[in-house]
Amino acid sequence: MTTSGESRMLIDGKLVEAEGGRTFANINPATEQDIGQVADATARDAQIAVEAARRAFDETNWSTDHAFRAKCLTQLHDALEREKESLRPLVVAEVGTPIMLTYAVQLDIPINDMQWPIALIDRYEWETKIGEHEFFGMNSQRVLRKEPVGVVAAITPWNYPIQVNLAKCIPALAAGNTVILKPAPDTPWSATEIGRLVAEQTDIPPGVFNVLTALDPAEVGEVLTGDPRVDCVSFTGSTAVGRRIMANAAPTVKKVFLELGGKSAAIFLDDADFSGIGASGAMTAMHGGQGCAMLTRYLIPASAYDESVEQLTAAFKAVPYGDPNDMANVMGPLVNARQRDRVLAHIETGKREGARLMAGGGRPAHLDKGYFVEPTLFVDVDPDATIAQEEIFGPVLAVIKYEGDDQAVSIANNSVYGLSGGVQSASLDRAMGVARKIRTGTLSVNGGMYFGPDAPFGGYKQSGVGREMGVLGFEEFLETKTIGLPASAG
Ligand code: NAD
Repeated sequence: MTTSGESRMLIDGKLVEAEGGRTFANINPATEQDIGQVADATARDAQIAVEAARRAFDETNWSTDHAFRAKCLTQLHDALEREKESLRPLVVAEVGTPIMLTYAVQLDIPINDMQWPIALIDRYEWETKIGEHEFFGMNSQRVLRKEPVGVVAAITPWNYPIQVNLAKCIPALAAGNTVILKPAPDTPWSATEIGRLVAEQTDIPPGVFNVLTALDPAEVGEVLTGDPRVDCVSFTGSTAVGRRIMANAAPTVKKVFLELGGKSAAIFLDDADFSGIGASGAMTAMHGGQGCAMLTRYLIPASAYDESVEQLTAAFKAVPYGDPNDMANVMGPLVNARQRDRVLAHIETGKREGARLMAGGGRPAHLDKGYFVEPTLFVDVDPDATIAQEEIFGPVLAVIKYEGDDQAVSIANNSVYGLSGGVQSASLDRAMGVARKIRTGTLSVNGGMYFGPDAPFGGYKQSGVGREMGVLGFEEFLETKTIGLPASAG
């Protein structure tokens, strides 16, 4: 099984080393081993990539030739399909994701889903008439034209890197933009491999798609978010870095799109079916809880509290985890030592603030290598406690007791975040009534799945600005030009 990925970046159509040959180590979080050196871009490399993307946007027909774009992006899709089996071990090795997830959202699904925005190129209404209007005594027809925004910087996290890279870059490219992708330093291959396929197996013109890998996000990040030649920053990551990006982009008034953190609540109404609550709660440990839309607060009515806690405790103690290459495991390590230590610090805060620890609570004794944390269950959590308010991004569930639907809604909305949530009830009407009151960008009712390439994804409040995927996500990468012409002209 090969576990060596592309070490070079893609800049202006060429696979290149960083200036001065700088590199950094890609670390496998399950073994803590260096699995390959990767180019470590300098600010100058970033400037060259921006220059190339700008030139490709301004001087090639990428932004105007729809059929050519669709052909090139289909070539990329086909290349990813062909190389899927060699990508699979690379994703597991650098992300530490359980391999079972690569058959779904870590690899197979995003490759399949990229066809949706490619197909949209042909069926999207690039120009529409909005009707006539009289202004200053003149009757005018108005035409709305949609045009690509220009050069897009796509800055992505490590938790679902192929999914986020493709969900950002393919719609941006399909909309006619040129793109510079900067992945997280923990997961460079999930971007450089896409860069390699673009260079080797597509007709995408030089400069249209660029990949910059860098250990220090600030050096390259400041160029991407501050350079006036970049028109739009599409960012997925933490709320803290999102704020920074928004501030850096302000002086040049860039379009900024943010997908940030979450602290989503699952509400079980008192008439819900509680028989599966253990298994569903233990899903919080899936991929070590490293998912922005995970349901990390469980709101359980007093009437079903004790039996639910019993089931959840048993399920948390039985979560299969360890070697990410084992198909039976739902959880591997956390992505790096810093994340593991952050999660362990949150667990200590939970204990200190008085939540009752029912399972886990530390590093697993039986795994001496890798950045593992035990699946951890806290109950009797105060809704205002730190572990109920801050995003932990680890395998930690906070269970909160409530009385009455109104209190459940108020606890769910007691968060600076608003990314996702869930409602369970025997009555669909009652569940929908509660769902309408929750201030989040996505919701699951009675287990329904909202996720798909055609469904907008994003957050309210400090979970973000804008939407990814769906027509709305595509339009994040478009400008609108309103043209008035004499009504008599048509
Ligand atoms: P992060 O914010 O630390 O980093 C995200 C990306 O930003 C990385 O590529 C990083 O190198 C880069 N970056 C960091 N500082 C920068 C700067 N000053 N300028 C430019 N780029 C900079 O996040 P992370 O630790 O990689 O990912 C975890 C976070 O991402 C969690 O908070 C999670 O909720 C969030 N996330 C959100 C979504 C969503 O869709 N809402 C999806 C996945 C992850």
